[in-house]
Amino acid sequence: MRNEQAGELLFELSRPGRRGVRLPACDVPQRPLEELLPPEQLADQPPPLPELSEPDVVRHYVNLSQLNMSVDTHFYPLGSCTMKYNPKRNDRLAGLPGFSDLHPYQPTETLQGILGLLYQAQQMLAEIAGLPAVSLQPAAGAHGELTALLVVAAYFRDLGQKRTKVLIPDVAHGTNPASAAMAGFRIVPIPSTPQGLVDLDALNKEVDQDTAVFMITNPNTLGLFDPQMQRIGQMVHQAGALVYLDGANMNAILGICRPGDFGVDMMHFNPHKTFSTPHGAGGPGAGPIAVSEPLAPFLPVPMVIRTETGYRLDYDRPKSIGRVRSFFGNTGIVLRMICYILTHGPEGLRQVAEQAVLNANYLLARLKGLLPVPYGNRCMHEFVASAARLRAERGISAMEIAKRLLDYGFHAPTVYFPLVVKEALMIEPTETESKATLDAFAEAIERILKESADLLQQAPHRTPISRPDEVQAARQPILRWYPS
Ligand SMILES: *Cc1c(COP(=O)(O)O)cnc(C)c1O
Repeated sequence: MRNEQAGELLFELSRPGRRGVRLPACDVPQRPLEELLPPEQLADQPPPLPELSEPDVVRHYVNLSQLNMSVDTHFYPLGSCTMKYNPKRNDRLAGLPGFSDLHPYQPTETLQGILGLLYQAQQMLAEIAGLPAVSLQPAAGAHGELTALLVVAAYFRDLGQKRTKVLIPDVAHGTNPASAAMAGFRIVPIPSTPQGLVDLDALNKEVDQDTAVFMITNPNTLGLFDPQMQRIGQMVHQAGALVYLDGANMNAILGICRPGDFGVDMMHFNPHKTFSTPHGAGGPGAGPIAVSEPLAPFLPVPMVIRTETGYRLDYDRPKSIGRVRSFFGNTGIVLRMICYILTHGPEGLRQVAEQAVLNANYLLARLKGLLPVPYGNRCMHEFVASAARLRAERGISAMEIAKRLLDYGFHAPTVYFPLVVKEALMIEPTETESKATLDAFAEAIERILKESADLLQQAPHRTPISRPDEVQAARQPILRWYPS
């Protein structure tokens, strides 16, 4: 349809005498538009819409989508972010009209299906975490961190204890100190040992009556599982403080061990990393948290509970920190997560972790002769290689390798993080990649390292834009019609 016609049609639909739009299964009284809208609000001209045909619009957006790299189009070994493939069946399930046509203001008697599923999701995450109480409300992993730390603050307030410090290893993700600061705590960094694990002496020195939480990511951002958890738990608990687990790396231990069993009091999940939901750009996703029994009364409201007469939203929780998100969380994401968990089952989830670790170790073994991996001969789900020697000898930095990989059709790994590795390339293949893809990636690195420094310093050569000023591009994007 031409847009002129579309304009006419819209105009027709809004003309006096047209009946209001009928909503399915909803008893809204139907009245003519002129009774609903004041006469001066009714247009007497069709709206001026831009003149574009449907094929022009489709081509514009399809071409734009092809300019970007995504998991559906390219291998995407972005360490820490766990860019695994998102099965399309998750989307199909979440899009079923029985879910997508629901409204959160419907009476709960008419929401029993979805509430039952949310309740089940709470139970499943509690089982996977080994911690009894779960809130599905937070909208991202980082939001889960903040929520859990607000829960901790309320818990210590309730005990009449004033604890102001949060201890965080130096290899932690930046959101950990940011969340702790937003929750009102003071951050004390804990150094790592030369092996990349928590320095127990340093932890012992810092943990005291003023400490609220020790936040640990395990496996950590170097891809190493810290086996000292029991000792760490004892140390922290002896001082009356709590252990927080950043669950971003659950992909590596899913179904193998449970944080609640290795001394953790609370954790967040990143469903977009662990349970293959779409990555939500730090907000419109989900970051459920699981906590121990003593922390449960402080979780956000509402909680989904089961009663004799059905499922209910429970607001009657006097110690709760209150709401952290509208309604009962991002149900579209939670549904995808449930679909993924039920599709795999307990055995399948364990295989996910085993395969993720196997894939990472295979790549590590193929690459460590080319790019040194300073921490560990073996890894969990990811590893951090270093281009420091290459930079010193040939002037080729981690950034140059990352940029050149784009020319070979691979998304770059995470670079320059964690900070303890110089010229870091943090590589996480995930379990959804085939051996052929891993081999092709390793061969691309091999070839890149044989190329001239000059070629690499100008890379990428095959992308629509080569090297933008990334800060400027984010802050002041130049938006234009493509192709011009
Ligand atoms: C991704 C990540 C986070 C933050 O999670 P979001 O869901 O992106 O907010 C926190 N810690 C670690 C280790 C991560 O990799």
